Amino acid sequence: MIEKLIQGVRVRFRNGINHVAVGNLTQTLLIVPREHRSLLTQIDVLPPANFGHGPEYAGGGSGVGWPRLSELCFDTHYRPNNFPRNLTLLHEIGHIMENEYDCLSHLAPEHRRVIDNVTIPATAHTTGPTEHYAIAYQQVLSGNPPQAVRDAVYASRAFAGIDAPSP
Ligand SMILES: [Zn+2]
Repeated sequence: MIEKLIQGVRVRFRNGINHVAVGNLTQTLLIVPREHRSLLTQIDVLPPANFGHGPEYAGGGSGVGWPRLSELCFDTHYRPNNFPRNLTLLHEIGHIMENEYDCLSHLAPEHRRVIDNVTIPATAHTTGPTEHYAIAYQQVLSGNPPQAVRDAVYASRAFAGIDAPSP
């Protein structure tokens, strides 16, 4: 493992520093609230074989408590939509924030309904309530989500006391 500090977050590369990944992670972490970055123990960049979803897995995981990203999620062929900002990483950070703040169970019913209705892509390896929150978090940080989704995510405990990031 080679480590590099990116926007204050320790990133560990199993196969050496990848400069495309460093640039992409820098751009992505810039839009993550500082309070959320500080909750990330580390980010691991690992070969696709480490994830158990096959040799072409270009996604991530966060079940161990920090984001783990396949090297292929920095490949423009596999993940063109991860540039300029890495949607996979934002999604995994969403999972970690949901877990850290227990966001869903503290949401007001009207916000909870909005999150529960965020669509999970057919290609997702994970389902369940927290998957909806992770997708909503990623949408809010990276793009132009429906206003109701934006309102619901900002109303969640992960954003208490945090200024809404500018897209
Ligand atoms: Zn997920």
